Amino acid sequence: MELPDKEICYRALRSRDARFDGLIFVGVTSTGIYCRPVCPARSAKFENCRFFGSAAAAQEEGFRPCLICRPETAPEMASWRGTSNTVSRALALISDGALDGDAASVETLAERLGLGERQLRRLFLQHLGASPVAVAQTRRVLFAKQLIHETRMPMTEIAMAAGFGSVRRFNEVFHKLFRRAPSALRRKAAGGTASAQAGVTLRLRYRPPYDWDAILHYLQVRAIPGVEHVEDEVYRRTVEVDGCSGSVEVRHEPKRQSLGVTIRFPNVQSLPAIVTRVRRLFDVGADIETIDEHLSRDPVLALLVAQRPGLRAPGGWDGFELAVRAILGQQISVTAARRLAGQLVALHGARVPENEQVRPELTHVFPTPKRLAAAKALGLGMPGARLSCLKALAEAVVAEPNLFRPFGTIEEAIGRLRSIRGVGEWTAQYIALRALRETDAFPATDIGLLRGAEKIDGTRPTSAGLLTRAESWRPWRAYAAQHLWAADGPLSVPLSVPVRSAHE
Ligand SMILES: [Zn+2]
Repeated sequence: MELPDKEICYRALRSRDARFDGLIFVGVTSTGIYCRPVCPARSAKFENCRFFGSAAAAQEEGFRPCLICRPETAPEMASWRGTSNTVSRALALISDGALDGDAASVETLAERLGLGERQLRRLFLQHLGASPVAVAQTRRVLFAKQLIHETRMPMTEIAMAAGFGSVRRFNEVFHKLFRRAPSALRRKAAGGTASAQAGVTLRLRYRPPYDWDAILHYLQVRAIPGVEHVEDEVYRRTVEVDGCSGSVEVRHEPKRQSLGVTIRFPNVQSLPAIVTRVRRLFDVGADIETIDEHLSRDPVLALLVAQRPGLRAPGGWDGFELAVRAILGQQISVTAARRLAGQLVALHGARVPENEQVRPELTHVFPTPKRLAAAKALGLGMPGARLSCLKALAEAVVAEPNLFRPFGTIEEAIGRLRSIRGVGEWTAQYIALRALRETDAFPATDIGLLRGAEKIDGTRPTSAGLLTRAESWRPWRAYAAQHLWAADGPLSVPLSVPVRSAHE
C-alpha cells in the first residue's frame, strides 16, 4: 500500500484536510469505527489511529463505517491507482457487478483480466490493502448506506439495488456491521422519492477543482437529438440497460463539491451500473490534482492547466453508442456528426412512450447493436464505406458483447477494435479514450489535437512529432489531449505567452 507516512496522515486528519478525502481513511482502534479525514467528530489520539488507502481495507480489518462523516460519500478515486491498470479495470468490472450474485467468482474475474486468481489477489492487496471480495462487499454496504441516507427507497429495493441478492443477507451484513437493522440507520428527515421508478437522487462527490463549464459545453455541442438534452445547466438523457429504459439528470452542486444525479429507472438492480456510467461520463473519480500537477511539469502545458484547472476527460455513456459516434464523426464536423446521430436515432432507436418522457425533447433511446445489425439499410446520407463500418461494428458487438469492457491491455483493446472493418487507428484510440477510459490513450492524428498543439507551440507538429512530445505526459495523455482540444475550441482563452506564429 502506498500511503503517506503515519505522521503526515495524522496531520491531514488533525487539520481535516480535504485534499486527503478519498485517498486515506482512518480506523480508530478505541472505537472500531473508520472515518474520512474530514470527519467533524473529535479527532482520535495518534496511537489509536490506523490509516488505510481504501474503505475496503479498513472494513476488512473489522472497522465499521462512521455514521457522521459517512465514508460512502468520500470522493471515489479510480484513476489515482493508475499505477496498476489491471486494478483499475478490475474495479470497473466489480462496480458493474462482476462479483455480485452466487455464480460470480474471483477466478472468473481474473480470467477476464487475463491473469491468474492469485496474481489478482496479490495486486489488490498491494494497491488497495483488501481482497477483491472485500472490495465488492464494501461497495455493496456503502452503496446501500448511501441509498438509506439519501433516498426514501424501501429496504427491500435497496437490498436488490446494492447487489445483496436477498433481504436476509442485507439484514445480516448490516447487523454484523452496525449492530442494528438497516432501517434504523435512516434519518427521519431523509428526502427524495420512495422508489427508483419515480426517481432517486444521489450525490456523487468529486475532488476539486472540477471544470463543470467545460464538460457541460462538451456534452451540449455533442448532444444527440432525441437522446440527450442540456438546458439551464442540467444534462439529461434517456437510458437503456438490459432491455429497460429510463432517464438520468445531472447537475452541479459546487458548494457540496458534488454532482447531483437523479435516476428514474424501473429496475433497481441496474442502479449501480447507471451510477457507474454517470461517474464515467463526468469523470467523477479523477485524482485531478495529481494529473494537473503532472501535466504542469511541461511549461507550455502548464499554461493551459492554469487556465482550466480541473478539466476532466469525459467518458462515453456506453461503448457502442460512443463507437457509433466516433464512426459517424470520421472526417466531418461535430455539428454534422450530431445531425447524423439524430437521424440514426429517429430511424432506429426505440421510442419512449409519451407518458414516460421526462422532457418533450427526450423521445428515443439510442439504438441497440442488435437493431442496427439487423437493419436492412441504415438510411443515412454518408459514404458507403462508413455505412458498412457501422454495420460491421454492430455485428461485432452482437458477437462479442464485452467488446467495450475493460480487459486485457490497452494494446489488446486497440487491436480488437482495429480488427473491425473500417476502424482505423484514430477511431480505435478515440474509443479507447472515451469508452474504455484509458487515461493514457492519445489519438495523435486528430486534427483538433494538432491544431491545439500548434496554438501552444507556434508550429503545427506532425503526428509523429506530437507523439514524441506527448511522452512526458504519460500516463495522463488523455487529459493532455483534453487540454489541447480545449485550446483549439471555442471556449479557448488567448495564451499569455508570445506565440511565435498565429495561423488561422
Ligand atoms: Zn467519521
